[in-house]
Amino acid sequence: MINTAKDATVIRELNLTDIPEGEIQRFLLHLVTDGIGMPIYVPIIVAKGMKPGKTLGLTAAIHGNELNGIPVIQRIFKQINIQELSGTLVGVPAVNIPSLHRKRRRFIDGKDLNHIMPGEPDGNVSQVYAWRIVNYIIKHFDYLVDLHTASFGRVNSYYIRADMDDAATRQMALLQNAQIIVHNPPSDGTLRGAAEDLEIPAITLEVGNPNTFQKGLIRDGLTGIHNLLSYLNMTNDSIEESEEAPVLCKKSYWIYTDTGGILTVHPKVTDFVRKAEVIASIYDIFGDKIKDYYAPEDGVIIGKSVSPINQTGGRILHLGIPV
Ligand SMILES: [Zn+2]
Repeated sequence: MINTAKDATVIRELNLTDIPEGEIQRFLLHLVTDGIGMPIYVPIIVAKGMKPGKTLGLTAAIHGNELNGIPVIQRIFKQINIQELSGTLVGVPAVNIPSLHRKRRRFIDGKDLNHIMPGEPDGNVSQVYAWRIVNYIIKHFDYLVDLHTASFGRVNSYYIRADMDDAATRQMALLQNAQIIVHNPPSDGTLRGAAEDLEIPAITLEVGNPNTFQKGLIRDGLTGIHNLLSYLNMTNDSIEESEEAPVLCKKSYWIYTDTGGILTVHPKVTDFVRKAEVIASIYDIFGDKIKDYYAPEDGVIIGKSVSPINQTGGRILHLGIPV
């Protein structure tokens, strides 16, 4: 017998009360079954402290090509001292297992799992997968941090999406030592929105670029999780503040091309731009410039396109408007 996932127990639903205090356990949650009758397992790590306390849940890769959150979750469980932990830390390093294999953002039926939460109990392929993620795993959390990255063809800063009008999520966001925080009330269909509907305060961490592991950003993400554990009185570690305060944005939006062509976006992520500054140029296939694009107002670059070939309506950059 070949054991591919060391000491992992197969379960059908997360049950935190049955786990003994002072243990870190690994689970394979048989969430759904594939087209040849084989189980699709969602891996879960649980660290249950010696003392009672909050339950913090960490989820990554709900978009199957967004990988930086996976090592963040793996490493936090290597770093915590289970003897000193209060409460329970739950990590789901890869939510969207079928799409992780395919290196794709979307689920196997083409749907975006982070647009259809909390799914449907008797729904179609993606709806039932979404519903079981929320009801078999997420509903057991007191707090949720959902880790993402930019999408294919784009790069991101290390930024947070959080409802900054809510005291709990505001504090969670400020503890992450991010470069940018965007005030963003949870929208319908996202995992963050589904959690907040269950009165689980939740934030989204956008940790850099897709399809890769970025060491520096993974370290920054870890520091933020350690800070949050300390703030929730789950550990006694001191809170590590970043040297540079995050840029707080009251809103953000994408700017799109209004004609097709070969796109160059000039500012880097986290750069500030002034109103009317040239932010991008677009060229035809002969190398002649078609036009420049200008910043519509002062802002900070949250993310940008790095994919040159764009037809009309291509994304240029994600502009944050500081408070
Ligand atoms: Zn994502």
